[in-house]
This record gives sequence, structure tokens and C-alpha cells, in this order.
Amino acid sequence: MLFANRDKSDTGTRAMATFYDTHAHLDYPDFAHELAEVIERAEAVGIAKIISIGTDLESSRNAIKLAEQFRNVFAVVGWHPSNVMDAPEDLHPALHELAQHPKVVALGETGLDYYRMPSQKPGGTVVQDEHYKKRQADIFHQHLEVAADTGLNCVIHQRESLEDTLSQLQPYAMRVRGVFHCFANDAVTMKRIVAMGSLVSFTGILTFKNGQNIRDTLAETPMDQFMLETDCPYLAPVPYRGKRCEPAYVKEISEVAAQVKGCSREELSAATCATAEKFFRNLR
Ligand SMILES: [Zn+2]
Ligand SMILES: [Zn+2]
Repeated sequence: MLFANRDKSDTGTRAMATFYDTHAHLDYPDFAHELAEVIERAEAVGIAKIISIGTDLESSRNAIKLAEQFRNVFAVVGWHPSNVMDAPEDLHPALHELAQHPKVVALGETGLDYYRMPSQKPGGTVVQDEHYKKRQADIFHQHLEVAADTGLNCVIHQRESLEDTLSQLQPYAMRVRGVFHCFANDAVTMKRIVAMGSLVSFTGILTFKNGQNIRDTLAETPMDQFMLETDCPYLAPVPYRGKRCEPAYVKEISEVAAQVKGCSREELSAATCATAEKFFRNLR
């Protein structure tokens, strides 16, 4: 049953702190057989809105379909940097068209990912690496251009590519804000991102035993400069670590985040939801 707990709060019990999962991959096959249940479980623990992130055009269209189907699901449309070799030369027309949908709240995920380069694979060469990086940069720029044109912000994926990502975002920083999702860098990097007008968001890594460096970064992040996300089906927080992640687990992430910030879950809810509503257009 939906909103069972919220009904209770109406009759005098303390209202449940609500949170948003600002980065979920609900279109992945991992959820296909029980999507309605996954969304209900999230609602039941106060995860009031879920943003499903596109990784290519098909996945973006699927995210929009889910947003049409479920009132509390929203979509982000874009092409993941790891998939750029399959991307069309010019994504502008498709991104422009998808961005018109009233439940599309940002572009992405886009950015740069240098984690697994072609030269690390059998038969791969350094020349291929350069080509791959160039394609990623080109697709990233296309997202930033469409974002600037449409007034949407960007969900940014960055892995082992920090300096290139920051320098490629910089020329757009006056017009486009980015959220560096699944943030796993230090406080100095967080401050550089915030200085550009962008934000960070934290996943279940916050709850990991070996996640102290991420907790240290969160401790220094201003209350109005970060959001929470699962990045599900990946990165399930403790005590679900290693299992399939789902949006309901923002609850466990929020508990650790509130501890780290030394605030109540209600205060954390107010801050992170307000930040998300400012960052993602049409999320209200
Ligand atoms: Zn990502
Ligand atoms: Zn993602």
C-alpha cells in the first residue's frame, strides 16, 4: 500500500523524513520483473521521488516511459561516456527533442570516463585511446550545448578524468550547472566544483567500511551543495553491500549522511530535497 506511513503521520505520529533518489537506473533489466514493487518499497520508507538516468537514446526514452507510468519517477536523458563509440555523430537533435518532455529534469549522464581505455584491452592501441577520449569530449560538449540552450543542468559522470572534466565544463559554468554524481573525490576537489556553481552527490559508498575518505569529504561539503543517490542497481549500501541496490536504500545512505553532518534526518531531508528541486527543473 502506498503512503501507509504518511497516513500515520497525519494522525499525530511524527512525519517521516522524505528523500529523493537523484540517480537510479530503473530501466536496467535488473528491475524489469518487479519495478512497481521496487518503487513501492521506496515510497514506503519515504523515498518520495526517483530520477531515472539515461545511458543512451533507447535508455533515455525508456526513462521517459517510466516517468509517464509512475507519478514519482522523473527522467534524465543523455549518453554515457563509456558508450560513446556507439553514439551517433550528432546527438543535438535527439537531445533537444527529448528535453522537451515535461518530466525530463536534466541532461546526462554525460562526462568523461578514462577507467578502462582501449589500450588496456587485447589488441588496443594508444591511438585508439586518443580517439576514444576525443569522442567522449565531443559527446560531453554536445550535452553541455543542449543544456545551455534548454536551461537544463547536467548529470556528470567522471572517472579517472577529473582535470579534463573540470576544464571542459569550465566554459559553460556560467550557463550550466553540473552534479558530479557518485562523488568519490576529496574535499579540495569538492570545493573546486562548488566554486564553479556545480554540486556533488553521494551514493552508498558513504556507508562502506573503507569509505572514510568519502565521509570526510561529505563532512566538509556545505549543507546546500550535495544530494543523495543510489546509482542502483550498483553500489548497495551497508547492510546490503554486494547485493542489487534499489532506491529504497537511500534510507540507509541518509542515516549515515545525517550522522556525518551531525544533523537530524529531518534537517538532511529539508536540505537535500531543496537542493535537488533547485537543480533539477520540473522536479517539484
Ligand atoms: Zn555514472
Ligand atoms: Zn549512473
